[in-house]
Amino acid sequence: MRIGVDFGGTNIKAALVNGAAVGAHVTVPTNAASGPESVLDAIAQAVGSLGATAGQVGVAIPGEVNDAGVCYRLPNVPGFAAYPLRDALQRRLGCPVAIENDATAAALAEQKFGWGTKYRSFLLVTLGTGIGGGFVLDGILRRGRGGFAGEIGHVLVDSGPGAWVCGCGLRGCLEAYAGTAGLLRMDRQAGGDAAEVRDIVNAGGQRAQRLFEFLGRALGVGLGRLNNALDLDALIFTGGVAASLDGIMPHLRRHLAEHSYSPALADIALHTSALGEHAGVIGAAWLGSA
Ligand SMILES: [Zn+2]
Repeated sequence: MRIGVDFGGTNIKAALVNGAAVGAHVTVPTNAASGPESVLDAIAQAVGSLGATAGQVGVAIPGEVNDAGVCYRLPNVPGFAAYPLRDALQRRLGCPVAIENDATAAALAEQKFGWGTKYRSFLLVTLGTGIGGGFVLDGILRRGRGGFAGEIGHVLVDSGPGAWVCGCGLRGCLEAYAGTAGLLRMDRQAGGDAAEVRDIVNAGGQRAQRLFEFLGRALGVGLGRLNNALDLDALIFTGGVAASLDGIMPHLRRHLAEHSYSPALADIALHTSALGEHAGVIGAAWLGSA
């Protein structure tokens, strides 16, 4: 039995994991505004409430961590810039801790138990507030020099003078369009007033179609250009709006083709994640096992 923790900006989920199966699990609020000490206490409390021990606890975080276990920053959780997260958690939990970016951890789960059993090279794309990613290339999970591999949200998809500003401060990033704020902005500009992306999907009809077309274009441009350099077997999508992949697909295919260097590159498989909402916690539990 392994223990995985999915440390999100809103909730912390801790779970017992056996293979790809999630057993007992608990979800507690992150209370991000209460500061690092309180957040770490919440993680320790969630793990403790599972009533089990493990040789290691794996933690997936919505940010990046270096090989020394120091996190650069967590954009949605204040106080974690240059924070020695691994040491702090090992002290609290009393056992070794492995930490990884959440999308990279989800890619590890997909590699071991999902589409990775079919494809050797794929990019797992997380669609949500931000756009994240995890790479498996030629059968190897890639975290890069400092854990940033797969940070695909900031590839350029619009270089025009009116390109939208991204949360990172750059203009024209994929995330500025395909992230939640970008999708809601597009809807507002077309006369909508949705508070959540799923409201637009649920509205159906032209309004949902407009969303699928807009998202398909942003993803097709960004991921098509990335794939020219990577030559992947598959793109795997996860996150709320990934459930609408069938509607997005024709637009995504068209723009992937337009931005592919060769027709062979455009012939890439597109799927939703085989593991769904538990991918992060499963990948966290299996960190270090690849
Ligand atoms: Zn950006």
